[in-house]
Amino acid sequence: MRFFMRFPEGRKKAFTFSYDDGHRCDLKFIDIINKYGLKSTFNLNMGIVAASKDNSRLMREEYSCYEGHEVATHGYTHPFFSQLPPNMVTYEITKDRSEMEEFFGKIIRGHAYAYGDVDEKSKEILSNAGIVYGRGVKSTHNFGIPKDFLEWQPTCHHDEECFMGLIDKFLENNPIGSPYLFYVWGHTFEFGYNKERNNWEYCEEFCKKISGHEDSVWYATNIEIYDYIHTYKQLQFSMDGKIIHNPTATDLWIGEHYKDETIKIPAGQTIKL
Ligand SMILES: [Zn+2]
Repeated sequence: MRFFMRFPEGRKKAFTFSYDDGHRCDLKFIDIINKYGLKSTFNLNMGIVAASKDNSRLMREEYSCYEGHEVATHGYTHPFFSQLPPNMVTYEITKDRSEMEEFFGKIIRGHAYAYGDVDEKSKEILSNAGIVYGRGVKSTHNFGIPKDFLEWQPTCHHDEECFMGLIDKFLENNPIGSPYLFYVWGHTFEFGYNKERNNWEYCEEFCKKISGHEDSVWYATNIEIYDYIHTYKQLQFSMDGKIIHNPTATDLWIGEHYKDETIKIPAGQTIKL
């Protein structure tokens, strides 16, 4: 059986954003993405939070704007991990994570590497600290599922020339096998510089273009995508693939090569094909 993972409700595609630094421009960006039903992860440094509204970053009191999206760690003081000894990397991750968990009252399991600076030591420390994924900044320009989530590279940055063309390709293609994952990252302050192209009108344009395809695209945060993919891996199959058991608490979907129909395996249930 040539099975492939399908996203919730049998969809073949997922789209996610990741924005860094907790900048004041996140407020306007969130208004836009909420209007279009899009989801983002926001990566925060709890050690460099604004003390007043005159600061370019947000104050903790303003963090309620992230409701409905994911918040993830970005290092307590936005450090270069490769330049620090293990104890300091441990501090930067665990202090950021602990303060975020205390403030938001949630379990925080995601990370974006400041400057995309990742090395083997940092990945191990992240993992030991209970962080399940770490995002880099090297564009893949494809829609593949990452093999190593502790070095999760994005499809592209929103300011790349190829971005709009990638959206067309993503929306027009109907994957026959592996599902598509489109991952876009950036900083919301880039829209505030009022450049000729990378400005708020451009932000609104690409959000409008990518949105509205709920029938075929799952708009989700980074951790929702990570969790779905890792839950899917817990499906149990008989040798011939005709009996499938879902031992998890999440409904899961599979599809077959070249077929648009999907099969739902409800949480906790066994199906026979
Ligand atoms: Zn940053």
